[in-house]
Amino acid sequence: MRKVSAVFNSPQGHWVGDGFPVRTMFSYDRLSRLLSPFLLLDYAGPAEFAPAAKPRGVGAHPHRGFETVTIVYHGSVAHRDSAGNGGVIGAGDVQWMTAGAGLLHEEMHTAEFTRTGGLLEAAQLWVNLPALHKATPPRYQTITSAQIPSITLPAEAGTVRVIAGEFAGQRGPADCFTPLNVWDLRLQAGHEVQLPIPAGWNCVVALLRGQMDVGAEQALGAADLVIFEPEGDGLLLRAHSDCLALVLSGEPIAEPVVGYGPFVMNTRAEIETAFTDYQTGLFGTMP
Ligand code: MN
Repeated sequence: MRKVSAVFNSPQGHWVGDGFPVRTMFSYDRLSRLLSPFLLLDYAGPAEFAPAAKPRGVGAHPHRGFETVTIVYHGSVAHRDSAGNGGVIGAGDVQWMTAGAGLLHEEMHTAEFTRTGGLLEAAQLWVNLPALHKATPPRYQTITSAQIPSITLPAEAGTVRVIAGEFAGQRGPADCFTPLNVWDLRLQAGHEVQLPIPAGWNCVVALLRGQMDVGAEQALGAADLVIFEPEGDGLLLRAHSDCLALVLSGEPIAEPVVGYGPFVMNTRAEIETAFTDYQTGLFGTMP
């Protein structure tokens, strides 16, 4: 079993625009070597929104050099970008967006959610691109709940939804640039599970809801994060209450990570170029 390398307890929240009260559960500014290929995880909500007249969210902003993966648990998010693409990410759905060479987009509550109000709960994961693919054209993968295999764990311990990669012989729908697994885990109170993690892959568990023990050594609560040592073949998780967690693992990308705000590149010069390109309109304009 893998040993725990670091634990971060539920972080302070902040607002992204006026629509997303998030807790940043990890970011590449700390321990990036043990997080690669993952860069950042924001957990939005759970939060109740009252009905409103005007959609809340975050207006047009750029990204370059990585992918954003938006996983909606409750509520619905509308997306629009500078290439004229758009769509709705509903409860259970995932949007896997490759920013690549760069784009502008906005992420808002849908008109329907704005009108009715309700519970919002979502996560946004940033996945790095290897240098070879940082300039790939922007791409969207709209992954509906129905496309995500859901595997029942032995002894009805819970389920794993395979968003990307593979679990128990089933492949997730996301098409990725480097080998990785994104598993949406529900583990029922009083149950445990052993999860296999490929040798040499990095691994983190973000517990969104519930309480669990990791191995024999670590108790986690809601919005706690555990980063594992790279050695060892698997994880043992024991749920004390019904748990919702993201289990992320992947082959590290052994390249320098230099980021600033919405850009994540390999060098300082590439970040400066990204700012210049943004300021001179090369990321396009919103329709
Ligand atoms: Mn964004």
